[in-house]
Amino acid sequence: MFMQTKRFTKINDGFICSQCGKENSPLKGGCRDHCRFCLGSSHVDTFPGDRDNLCGGVMSVIGIDYKSKKGYILLYRCLKCGEIKRNKTANDDDFESLRSFFSSIPYKAPR
Ligand SMILES: [Zn+2]
Ligand SMILES: [Zn+2]
Repeated sequence: MFMQTKRFTKINDGFICSQCGKENSPLKGGCRDHCRFCLGSSHVDTFPGDRDNLCGGVMSVIGIDYKSKKGYILLYRCLKCGEIKRNKTANDDDFESLRSFFSSIPYKAPR
């Protein structure tokens, strides 16, 4: 039976990464919106955590921005529809992956 009402407002459950196949546990005190191992993400949210977007395309990291209040923000572009999204890095993101992105892509966000 499929409910017509909005089922979820915020989902913070673990998931298996569609890009590297590793299992991500739910994020404490936040919302897991990207893989903490390879930083890959899928286009499943319209607003953070709602899993309401039907696109489902692969989001690839295109840049990193830094905000003094929020910390590092990963910029993603959907390979399917081209939408650009921002995901805040999580405390337990793989630091080596982050660091390799720091050195391989520009820090500045596209405007
Ligand atoms: Zn991954
Ligand atoms: Zn998309």
